[in-house]
Amino acid sequence: MTEHLINRPAAIRACPTCTHPILRATTGGIDVTTDPAPVSITEEITQLLSGHRSYDVLTWGLPQRIFLEWRDPDRIRTRKYPVVTTHGCRVTPPAAGETELVIRTPVHYPEIPLF
Ligand SMILES: [Zn+2]
Repeated sequence: MTEHLINRPAAIRACPTCTHPILRATTGGIDVTTDPAPVSITEEITQLLSGHRSYDVLTWGLPQRIFLEWRDPDRIRTRKYPVVTTHGCRVTPPAAGETELVIRTPVHYPEIPLF
């Protein structure tokens, strides 16, 4: 469902509210914050009933990075990966110093072909 939207790998950092470790990632174009510890099925159900969301923890790419994938109604039927749930604190957006910017330089083609 989210394969055409932006996914960014998870990064671990301290929660600005409670200072506990959290995972921050972008999945399906949405920034998410989760606890890093996987939960059991019972814990996942409890979290879902209290309004939290759950995510599969996937590793992908070389070098491998951790991605979170929202457990939509199709994914939630099975457990193929570790599952994490949203962090309980209201996390404020990252400070300006935490934002990573990527500036792409234009490709420079020579005016005279090399061949
Ligand atoms: Zn917190």
